[in-house]
Amino acid sequence: MALLDQQHHHGLKADGDGLVNLALVIKGACITNIEPLQLGPRPQLPLGFPAAVEPHCHLDKAFTWSGAPNPRGTISGALQANFQEHQSRSAPVVAERMERALQKAWQQGYRALRSHLDLGWQGSQATWEAVTHTWKAWSDRLELQPIAMAPLEVWGTSIGGRLAKQMAPLAGGLGGALDYESSQGIPWRHHLAQMLRLAADHGCIIDLHLDETCDHRSCCLEGLLDLLEQEPLPPSVTVSHGCSLAQHTPEKLQRTAGRLAALHIPLVSLPTTNLWLQDRGNGSRAPRLRGLAPIHELQEAGVTVAIGGDNVADPWFPGGNFDPLELWRFAIPVTHLHPWEPWGLIPFTSAPAQVLQLAWDGVLRNGCPADLILTEATSWQEVLATPQGLRVLRHGLWLS
Ligand SMILES: [Zn+2]
Repeated sequence: MALLDQQHHHGLKADGDGLVNLALVIKGACITNIEPLQLGPRPQLPLGFPAAVEPHCHLDKAFTWSGAPNPRGTISGALQANFQEHQSRSAPVVAERMERALQKAWQQGYRALRSHLDLGWQGSQATWEAVTHTWKAWSDRLELQPIAMAPLEVWGTSIGGRLAKQMAPLAGGLGGALDYESSQGIPWRHHLAQMLRLAADHGCIIDLHLDETCDHRSCCLEGLLDLLEQEPLPPSVTVSHGCSLAQHTPEKLQRTAGRLAALHIPLVSLPTTNLWLQDRGNGSRAPRLRGLAPIHELQEAGVTVAIGGDNVADPWFPGGNFDPLELWRFAIPVTHLHPWEPWGLIPFTSAPAQVLQLAWDGVLRNGCPADLILTEATSWQEVLATPQGLRVLRHGLWLS
């Protein structure tokens, strides 16, 4: 019911899974009519959802694990392998893995993806050429949002200015990574302020990997909020990760969450990569801290929280496959987001659409796109118990 517009709620009663039986009339690429379907005491139709939105991935490094593995699973190992991989980048190689990633995403029901792209290091020219080619090739099927990921100091240089000019026509943005460790010894507040100004000047959005650490001293998000409360705002700001928020006192967390909500800044939580990378010791002990942003408290404060897939088979995370349902099946148990309740379902569905500021919010109503995913399951329990074969409807036609 959480994915059905209020105008269609009349006379409907959801079951304990929040499900209702619906008959959809589809004409062309649109859903033109939605009616309740009387089938019996509880729904037995396959679970269906609006096509998926990926709020945070890395298309340019997808499937690089085999060539740039990180067997110890550490952040430093991932960085090292990532930089090594940059040195061998060529436009055809990057374009080929982006194509492979987007084919999978498309076949498995994604309609839009925001991708961070390594564009401030060696190999950036090859990456940019691959992006130009790939974005054009997929523009009729997927909405793609690029975020140029670069070291923060780049945003105050002519290279940063050029990147902003490249991102603006693609409705893209500026990004990077910042946490306690990486902020030591650099004027990071100054770099952030330069980045915000550049984004505002060029109409670019901002999406930062922020406080991706379990270190309780990591409060870079608060530094960003200080600036956003004073600086002219870029069109849209997103915070990705926010792992260290879980290590802050409840009072401090509440204050930060309130400030995020007041500025309408969403947070994207990325469970797969966080669980894989965070709280790695020297390999001799099991992880204790799981590195997830405190989603429930953030939602309670009014922050929009979306769940993303982040890395796919790259040095940062060896798993993943651009399958939205597999991401749900992984994330639901670790986040305790109950998909049978609206606040548990929205982070996987309409919240990512909100983060990307898409024209369609992912809620079904007369006139919305006929872009759907059908599972094989008839209940959430079955979704959680069994990997799902998916049928995907795009623009009113079945892909398979
Ligand atoms: Zn990421």
